[in-house]
Amino acid sequence: MFMKTLITGVAGFLGSHLLKTLLEQGKYVIGLDNLSTGRMQNIETVSHHPNFEFLRFDVSDPAVLQLDLLMDVTEIYHLASPASPKFYQHEPFATISVNTIGTQHMLELARMNNAKLLYASTSEAYGDPVMHPQPEEYCGNVNTWGPRACYDEAKRLGEVLCYEYFQRFGVQVKVARIFNTYSAGLRNDDGRVISNFVTQALTGADITVYGDGKQTRSFCYVDDNIRALQLMMDRQEATGEIINIGNPSEYQILEVAVMVKHMCESRSTITFHPLPQDDPKMRRPVIEKAKSLLDWQPQVNLEEGLRRTIKAYRGQMIERVQS
Ligand code: NAD
Ligand code: UDP
Repeated sequence: MFMKTLITGVAGFLGSHLLKTLLEQGKYVIGLDNLSTGRMQNIETVSHHPNFEFLRFDVSDPAVLQLDLLMDVTEIYHLASPASPKFYQHEPFATISVNTIGTQHMLELARMNNAKLLYASTSEAYGDPVMHPQPEEYCGNVNTWGPRACYDEAKRLGEVLCYEYFQRFGVQVKVARIFNTYSAGLRNDDGRVISNFVTQALTGADITVYGDGKQTRSFCYVDDNIRALQLMMDRQEATGEIINIGNPSEYQILEVAVMVKHMCESRSTITFHPLPQDDPKMRRPVIEKAKSLLDWQPQVNLEEGLRRTIKAYRGQMIERVQS
C-alpha cells in the first residue's frame, strides 16, 4: 500500500527532525506549518526532496479539510503547536486553537482517510505534579488560572478529543506525553532552558537560572524521542494509549547550568532570576509503559546529548560569523 505521511508543525524542532528521519527511510511526506514558531531554515536541506511536499497552512483553519493533497494520507503526526513557554504565552489563543480545533481537524482527516494519528501531548498535562515520578495514570495538578494554562489545558483537551475519536469512531489514535526534549535545531531565541544555556555559555552571556535552580527536569535527546514517536505510530499496541516519552534521568536546573558552563569551557557567570509563575517544581517520567509496549528506552544520556548539542551550536555560530 502507498503510504503518505502528514507532519503538522514540520518546520519546528521535532517536526524537522522527524521529517529528515522519515525521508531517509524512503517515506513520502507532506509537511504543513504556518511558520509561527518554526523556520524554513530547519527544513531547507530537504525542501526540494522528491518525496517531500511543503504547505504553509494553519491547521486551525477549517479549510485544511478541503486540501486535495491531504485526502489520501495514511498516517498523521500532529505536532503543530508552540512548545516554548516564551512563545505559547505570547500567543495563548493560537495555542489553544491549534491544540483543540486544530487537533479536531486532524482527527477528522484521520477519520475520513482511515489514517493513524499521533498527537504530541506533553508532560505539562501533569502540571505542577504532586506525585513523583509521573506515571500515565496520574491525573495531574494543573492551574487553569495562570500563564501556563493556555498550553497545559489545551493539550489536555486535545487528549480528550483523541479519546472521543478513538471510542466513538475507532480512529487509531496514539498520544505521546513528551517530556523536555532537546538537541541542536532549537532556535537560539527559543527560550527553553537548553537552548538558552548553551547559547549563553558559548557567547559569554550570563547563564540565567530562574528561581534557585533546585527545580528539576528530565531531558531526552531528540533521536531517542523521534525513535519513540515512530514506534508509537507503527505499533498496534500503542493504539488508543497515552504513553510517556522521556528520559527518566532527573537533574536540577542549576546542575544543568554548571554542566553546560563546564562543557562549553565558558567564562559566563551563572545568575539568578525570578522563577516564572506556576513553574513546575519537579518532573520525571515513569517509562514502564513505553518499555513494555514499544520496547523502547532512551539511549543518549544528558552528557552525551549536550556534547552533540554544543558541537552543533558552535558550528552554527561559526557559519553565521563567516557568512
Ligand atoms: P516548535 O515550536 O519548534 O515547533 C512547532 C511547530 O508547529 C512550528 O514549526 C510552528 O510554526 C508550527 N505551528 C504552530 N501552530 C501551528 C498552526 N496553527 N498550524 C500549523 N503549524 C503550526 O516546537 P517543538 O519543540 O518542535 O514541539 C513540537 C510538538 O511537540 C508540540 O506540539 C509540542 O507541544 C510538543 N512537545 C514538545 C516538547 C519538547 O520538549 N520539544 C515537549 C512536550 C511536547
Ligand atoms: N529555565 C531557567 N533558565 C532559562 C530557561 C528556563 O532556569 O533561561 C528553567 C525554567 O524556569 C524551568 C526549566 O528551566 O524550571 C525548564 O524550562 P523550559 O522553558 O525549557 O521548559 P518547561 O518549563 O516547559 O519544562
